[in-house]
Amino acid sequence: MRKIWENHPWMIDEQRYRRFNQKYTMFSRTGWDQKIQEIARKTVGSVLRNINSARKSSLLDYALKSAGWWVSMKASPHQMDRGDGGLVSWNSDISPVFSIASSPWNENPQLEEERRKFKQAVEKKPEIMSEIVKRASHFLGADLVGIAQFDERWVYSHRIMNPRYHPGKEFSEESLDLPEGIRYCIVLVFEEDYDMYSTADGGVAMADVGFGYSRMAITAGSVAEFLRALGFTAIPSGNDLAISIPYAISAGLGEYSRMGLLITRKFGPRIRIAKVFTDAPLAADKPIRFGVYEFCTKCKKCAEKCPSQSIPYGEPEWEGKTISNASGVYKWYVDVEKCFEYWCTSGSLGCGVCVRVCPYNKPTHKPSYPIHALFRDYISRIVGGNIGKIIDDMLGYGRRKKPSEWWGVDYDRLVGVS
Ligand code: SF4
Ligand code: SF4
Repeated sequence: MRKIWENHPWMIDEQRYRRFNQKYTMFSRTGWDQKIQEIARKTVGSVLRNINSARKSSLLDYALKSAGWWVSMKASPHQMDRGDGGLVSWNSDISPVFSIASSPWNENPQLEEERRKFKQAVEKKPEIMSEIVKRASHFLGADLVGIAQFDERWVYSHRIMNPRYHPGKEFSEESLDLPEGIRYCIVLVFEEDYDMYSTADGGVAMADVGFGYSRMAITAGSVAEFLRALGFTAIPSGNDLAISIPYAISAGLGEYSRMGLLITRKFGPRIRIAKVFTDAPLAADKPIRFGVYEFCTKCKKCAEKCPSQSIPYGEPEWEGKTISNASGVYKWYVDVEKCFEYWCTSGSLGCGVCVRVCPYNKPTHKPSYPIHALFRDYISRIVGGNIGKIIDDMLGYGRRKKPSEWWGVDYDRLVGVS
């Protein structure tokens, strides 16, 4: 047993831990596991009940959710299962008029010579290559970017094809090996909108989740194309190929939390993560600590507010609660089966209450943000106890807003519901 990151509390039992088979992730089980398929089938009825009674979400909210997912599911369902297709293709297959990453450019000796010179230069100065990649990634849509050393432990042992994301295909599974020579993982973080997330569960938060996936595919695919045009191997990835959170922690983008998500310093847990694996020479970032473990130990607000009671109240453990948890790591495990069942039966098609109520989720666009950050990161740790959570509650943070507050339109009044 040893620590995964020097200055973090999380440990791995190398005798016990095995590379996780993607087949066992909660979303993948919708493709083969009858128990989960039965739960997933409840979704349609719960959505209709939700729309018809406008409990949490109206027709407007579901329409925006559909739009949010459009790019991801139309151009890149592969990022939900086996990867290597659509926007997350492993190779450039667009017209050479628009990209120098594909044939016949790749056979051009002058271009090859220029790429050779560039590679030679950045091999000696990987920190400059990191700056270049980060600048390009921000331009292409990422809100935060970090570089992690490649660590095969977090790559799925097998990848799957899921008919849920690829209608008409059969469920299948194959062993997964990334191309030889991968050295780094570029981790891309996307902020989700604070005001939209305030309407979770349901509401317009689910639209922002969908649009987060669309942005992941656009940016990860584009960053990969940038690197391929420079002559490197680059493999874009969303939920496919590997577990994202350990890479994000290695890349210095945040800490692991009680609710099982990454907490970033700037946006808290209100984020999505995508990745690009590459053989380009880069300078890896270092993991950071800003007190999330200590805060989570006392706070437990997500566990209290979770409508399905899926988040643990106790100490971290070695054993996951379901086959969808990657056991053998000392951490907090969420009961993802219970969480998923809530998604499918509440009509919210996702939930996000834990993200909404977390004291790390604060509106970075408002002038009060620096005061919150100062209090949370420094003063509450000095004062001790769960004072941070108590004050958060007193100030009314984390309360649910109605989607009509975001729209500026009262749907019920508009359609004549009394
Ligand atoms: S709500 Fe509290 S316990 Fe839960 S993840 Fe956030 S800080 Fe940690
Ligand atoms: S998404 Fe909702 S149901 Fe799932 S763990 Fe978070 S609060 Fe609980």
